[in-house]
Amino acid sequence: MKITDVITYPVSYELDTEFWMSREPYRTASAIIVQVRTDDGVVGTGIINGRPMTEIVNIVTMLRDVIMGMDALAHEAVWQKIFAITYTRAGAALDRDAGQPHFGAGKRPQILAALAGIDLALWDIKGKALKLPIWRLLGATSGTTYAYASGGYYEAGEPILKVAQEMASYVDMGYTAVKMKCAGVSLADDVKRVSEVRAAIGPETKLMLDANLGYSLDEATDALRAYEKFNIFWFEEPLYWYDSIRALGELARRTHVAIAGGESQLTAWEARDLVDLGGVNFMQFDATRAGGITELLRVAHYCHLRHVRITPHHDPEIHAHVVAAMVNGFGVETFPYKARDPLWDRLYSKKPIIKDSYLHLDSEPGFGFELDWQEVENHKLI
Ligand SMILES: [Mg+2]
Repeated sequence: MKITDVITYPVSYELDTEFWMSREPYRTASAIIVQVRTDDGVVGTGIINGRPMTEIVNIVTMLRDVIMGMDALAHEAVWQKIFAITYTRAGAALDRDAGQPHFGAGKRPQILAALAGIDLALWDIKGKALKLPIWRLLGATSGTTYAYASGGYYEAGEPILKVAQEMASYVDMGYTAVKMKCAGVSLADDVKRVSEVRAAIGPETKLMLDANLGYSLDEATDALRAYEKFNIFWFEEPLYWYDSIRALGELARRTHVAIAGGESQLTAWEARDLVDLGGVNFMQFDATRAGGITELLRVAHYCHLRHVRITPHHDPEIHAHVVAAMVNGFGVETFPYKARDPLWDRLYSKKPIIKDSYLHLDSEPGFGFELDWQEVENHKLI
């Protein structure tokens, strides 16, 4: 079964509300859909979450020539061939006009994102060719995983305590774990938000806090001391980007609250360092951003050896297949707030069912979701 074509469909939705994480606004919900076609007529679909989207699309188009004619079931060989572009002279063909990568040119994160989309499409092909869902290919007994509700952004123009209603609405939907943002306002105001949320969701609901790289080590230490009385299930990506691994290890030694991270890591080697030096308890490596399922499996197996549970960032329709199969799979992140995530709400004509804090994949071959091609056409970026 040979690869005969690779096609991209970048889609983007403008949000009506401006949402904020600790440091960054969230004004559009976007993804790049990748299709890999084969001479057998089997078509695989992958999804990329990366930026800038036009650069990733250009790289996928370039990679089409690199992998054309390769065996579509040889995901490891395809992965190695593309990954080698990041460290060999093959990469010199990319970005010819921008000069040397060691002076700041080069597009390593975008290559890894492009690789993610192609790898995911190849796994979808493998499932479809063998007529099995990916969770079965990976050895799971069912396609059901734990699921938590992710939200609690700072909404421009809204009172900061509106978050309590939002998080309570997820509990009303049946969720037993909810996640909210922190580190976007003063610590005193964040403590008010967390306190109101805990009161609104009751004592039994798991509550996670995501700082999105928003604190120094000392600020994070103070913040944890203030938050921990609200029974925090995990504290996610607390530290500024520039010292987010070794200093995280120091923070982990200072607290009994579990630490989560991994969505910013681009390779299994980076994920390993986050475990070994950063002391994370929950690994959130994102297969749609970097390296696909092939890399996520390496991360998941390593995490198992180090007693770390996996709960990948975003895209549960992809990640649940791996979480369901891994002995250390914890759960998946889901986004019930339609205004914040129109992709989940509108992009699929068929997607997993989420009920009572569990996500259920069915037995369709491959990933098992189907895109609404009219939505793709209506929101196509390029
Ligand atoms: Mg996060």
